[in-house]
Amino acid sequence: MLKIVLTIAVIAAVYFFLIKKPKVTQKRQERAEAEKRKPGKDEEIMVECEKCGTFVSSHEAIIVGGKYYCSKSCAGVK
Ligand SMILES: [Zn+2]
Repeated sequence: MLKIVLTIAVIAAVYFFLIKKPKVTQKRQERAEAEKRKPGKDEEIMVECEKCGTFVSSHEAIIVGGKYYCSKSCAGVK
């Protein structure tokens, strides 16, 4: 009788182990993917103006010759 109970316990343990493990892995993958998506989703990064050193968002920055500028006057464009 004890052997049967032990066998059931082992089967149950293996069963739960196999059921639970993929769920945890899936959750971790989802979280990793969510974190991966974050920078791509909102790609606004702060960049330093090449001339005056002011930090501006990449959306507002003016890129001239591969360098970031906070304003047109800093970039030297009219
Ligand atoms: Zn500037």
